[in-house]
Amino acid sequence: MRLLMFRHGGERRLGVLTGAQLDVVVDLLALAPTERAAPADLLSLIELGETGLNHVRQLLDSPKATTGAPFRRRLSDLTLLPPLDPPRGDVLAIGRNYEKHAAESARAWGENVKPPTVFTKAQTSLTGPYHDIPIDPAVSDKIDWEAELGVVIGRGGANIKAADAMSHVFGYTVINDVSARDIQNGWGGQFFKGKSLDGSSPVGPCVVTADEIPDPQNLPVTLRVNGELKQDGHTRDMIYPVAQLIVWLSIGMTLRPGTLIATGTPDGVGFARTPPEFLKPGDVIETEVGSIGRLRNRMVSAAVPAAR
Ligand code: ZN
Repeated sequence: MRLLMFRHGGERRLGVLTGAQLDVVVDLLALAPTERAAPADLLSLIELGETGLNHVRQLLDSPKATTGAPFRRRLSDLTLLPPLDPPRGDVLAIGRNYEKHAAESARAWGENVKPPTVFTKAQTSLTGPYHDIPIDPAVSDKIDWEAELGVVIGRGGANIKAADAMSHVFGYTVINDVSARDIQNGWGGQFFKGKSLDGSSPVGPCVVTADEIPDPQNLPVTLRVNGELKQDGHTRDMIYPVAQLIVWLSIGMTLRPGTLIATGTPDGVGFARTPPEFLKPGDVIETEVGSIGRLRNRMVSAAVPAAR
């Protein structure tokens, strides 16, 4: 199942992406007999566990789900929000989880290659899958891209064992861990603030439930800037695959339902290129992970308010 959040009037609504061309959104609230009979958003649905998913399947089985508006809406008519709007807590993120990216980073920073690391991104850094991304050169003129597989935690837990790890995954999404390299490397040398500029990091377009992605280590990860391929990676090259990340992150630290994990980016980021490349207003970035979907975002001068 492909779940997403969209705006309808002043409301946020939960929908299911469907249709042969994946161009139709079934509006779960419109299908539900009463307002309370539909989960308010993806986070509420995740908290309901398997019961919630069964309920959504029941709603989708209703004859109304195959008719037209208001039950079915054209994707192109909708404004999509981040599917987790917001996720639970800060976004957990992994740095240097691909060998070639670890090597290019070390080269660019003039350091030895370091092992993977954990950091967080603020919820306020997330934006919709097709939203404009504001850039203010007074804040940073070194805005860079990082295409990544996103993992959404379903069942929470701490000290999760490897054999159980995948049963804690609700689903998968696409995230661009957009990074202000000057701030990431400045401010005493930290990741959090450099990875947390407002509305900088698109996520979505949907969350695909885990049953539809049997092997998360078999997904191409690509990033294009103005149509030019900059990152051409594959999740099989992760140093810590998804199961191991869940084990590692949950050591002595509870992962809660609805937590979003950015699993690290392959090589081909801007700052490690010769010469370095950074995003500027007018650039369009397209971030894609396998069959999960593609984000498409335009960088705009911060003087233009980002739609949200
Ligand atoms: Zn990253």
